[in-house]
Amino acid sequence: MSDDEDQYNYQNDSEEFNQINSWQENLKLDMVEILEMKDVMLVIMKEVQELSEILYFDEDNTFELLMHYNWNKDDITQKYYSASEKLLTEFKANGIINDHQNVIYNGLQGCCTVCFCQEQLILLGCKHMFCESCIKQTIMQRVQKDKFLFVRCLFNGCNYKLPFSMIRKFSNQKEFEDLLCRKFVECSRYLAYCPAVNCNKIIKPKFTSTKEVTCLCQTKFCFYCKEELHPPCPCDLVKKWLVVLKNDQANQDWIRLNTKQCPFCKQFVERSFGCNYMLCKPPGGCANAFCYVCSKPWKPDHKDHYKCNQYVPPKDNTELEKDLIERCNFYSKGYLIQAAAGQKAQESLKKIRDYYIHQIFMYFGFDMHDTQFLEEVMAELIQSRVILKWSYCLSYYISHKNQQSSKLLDHYQQLFEHACESLAISLMKMFNRIEKLNVEIHTTPMHDLKKQFMKLKDTIQNASSKCQKMRLNLESAVYQGDIIV
Ligand SMILES: [Zn+2]
Ligand SMILES: [Zn+2]
Ligand SMILES: [Zn+2]
Ligand SMILES: [Zn+2]
Ligand SMILES: [Zn+2]
Ligand SMILES: [Zn+2]
Repeated sequence: MSDDEDQYNYQNDSEEFNQINSWQENLKLDMVEILEMKDVMLVIMKEVQELSEILYFDEDNTFELLMHYNWNKDDITQKYYSASEKLLTEFKANGIINDHQNVIYNGLQGCCTVCFCQEQLILLGCKHMFCESCIKQTIMQRVQKDKFLFVRCLFNGCNYKLPFSMIRKFSNQKEFEDLLCRKFVECSRYLAYCPAVNCNKIIKPKFTSTKEVTCLCQTKFCFYCKEELHPPCPCDLVKKWLVVLKNDQANQDWIRLNTKQCPFCKQFVERSFGCNYMLCKPPGGCANAFCYVCSKPWKPDHKDHYKCNQYVPPKDNTELEKDLIERCNFYSKGYLIQAAAGQKAQESLKKIRDYYIHQIFMYFGFDMHDTQFLEEVMAELIQSRVILKWSYCLSYYISHKNQQSSKLLDHYQQLFEHACESLAISLMKMFNRIEKLNVEIHTTPMHDLKKQFMKLKDTIQNASSKCQKMRLNLESAVYQGDIIV
């Protein structure tokens, strides 16, 4: 197919495409076709033409029909074959399709009943007449502002819908096509827009079973529910959960602040890294450390602050309703904390690329070979934050219905969160080290500094392996059915 060849050439020429160099990404890109709006427009026009040939409808009526039936051509043809004779009259009687035979663009000279100017009027299918500029203005308003492809006659109470060809003619072509394309993609089971802002690429998986897709812009998302990747949560819970979160404004505000009051000296402490370790920094602060989640003193030797992922329900049965709300607050807080931590991890990754590896090279002379691990462990941390985040959604729903699974999930989640925090903390230490290098270089022998760096590198890599292991444990417990979702 020549279309496919064009697509292929386009991808090879594109700069973005050349940036993607890891074989994994190429493998994933191979699973999807990346389409532009113009490609989808061709598909749309082909669908319209095919259906209009089957039904003997004109293009305008075929468009109206397809739009009404959400582009489900099979549904329409099935109806047609079961009652072809009555179909046209039925569609017309129900206002699904409109009679456009009387439409005359260069109609009689007359007075437009909207703007009262004397002009050549356009005659619509319903016999109402308006000047071109009034019709054009109405169409522009509907398409551009209201994002609708249906435009009713300007006469108050008239149900006639203007033909598609007229809407297309009088609206901005790009906006019309964009709207049409979006509507079509929304209805399609085989296509989806990349959710990244300003990307506008349309993804078509090569296999219907493909769930996780990667766009040319590197954005990954779930093709089934069109949300970001959400392992280990099933799509239906994700949908419900996002509604719950939306209604939980208080918690979102709490997270957005990103600061906590120090439990010792009551100063406000800002969270600088993605982990739960909060240090009340001197000067100004009291130098005590505490947990971001539960505000208890930070004690690395005993693991109390890692247990703040466990919800303790009230013992009193009469407080059941309160329990429901608190349960929801508790898990959404856990979810939002991980979401924020994930964001921080993304920022850290950027800082690694823009700053830390250059510092390391400048002071130690270590090149990519010795700093590559930072990118690798950050990838693990970012992925782990996503899975931890969604595990809170899972916890919430499971806590309602299956106590045993709930306990098991809590257990895996706790170990995983602990490992994830340890990784984040060891990374924080590394970043702190690098930031202090310009001072320490004058007080500590280079040999010792390098040794410290290598030791920290070891710690980080171990923490990352542990984190990965705990992540896989949790994931497989869900996927293999030990935890019943
Ligand atoms: Zn007018
Ligand atoms: Zn009318
Ligand atoms: Zn994209
Ligand atoms: Zn999904
Ligand atoms: Zn303090
Ligand atoms: Zn805590």
